[in-house]
Amino acid sequence: MQILVISDIHANLAALDQVLHEAGSFDVIWCLGDAVGYGPEPNGCVARLRALQPEYWLAGNHDWAALGKLDISDFNPMARLAALWTREQLTPENSDFLRTLPARVKVSDQFTLAHGSPRHPIWEYVLDAQTAAVNFAHFDTSYCLVGHTHVPAIYRQQNGRVAVPAYTLGEPFELENGRLIVNPGGVGQPRDGDPRASYLLLDTETLTATYHRVEYAIQETQVRMSEAGLPSRLITRLNYGW
Ligand code: ZN
Repeated sequence: MQILVISDIHANLAALDQVLHEAGSFDVIWCLGDAVGYGPEPNGCVARLRALQPEYWLAGNHDWAALGKLDISDFNPMARLAALWTREQLTPENSDFLRTLPARVKVSDQFTLAHGSPRHPIWEYVLDAQTAAVNFAHFDTSYCLVGHTHVPAIYRQQNGRVAVPAYTLGEPFELENGRLIVNPGGVGQPRDGDPRASYLLLDTETLTATYHRVEYAIQETQVRMSEAGLPSRLITRLNYGW
């Protein structure tokens, strides 16, 4: 089975559509959360994904913020503003739907999915081997897929140690050695210095994961953001991938 793994779409419909187009044929979608927040098309992105019926679809902190399920006083001012704007924009139907999404799912003996981390599915960022090391104790499957950081990364636990193996874009990475925490990167607001949308194709037969990056019409999203009156720093950061 070919699984398209995406995360952190952040209401960026141009990026989502480009990923769906480039990904070609896949059997199912696993979405690791934050469909909305920051970007200009929350309803468009939720509608697109709902039409595609992801096999698994998680809620993230920005989804919860837009639903009022989470205190946003900790958010930075720009994220807070975008969350409040998103809250106003979401149709009652889309809000009700987002409210039903889980923050963590055990798919099988092989895969656990969580937005942030298996330990704290909504909030925790797994950005380094130390944080990953602690989190391996918080799931009992071989692999855990997480989003939230908007940074593609693989953490491997083997013989009691956690390493960060390198991967090559477009080349299948073999999942077999050791337990892994894998982040597909962000579709709608990448933060690793590469502005291209990031996604992962998981092949459950060959047990491989292949990272991809795709250019999309950043300007299209930026024009919609300015029309919506979203903060200019959120608009310009899309050019730089941070
Ligand atoms: Zn996010």
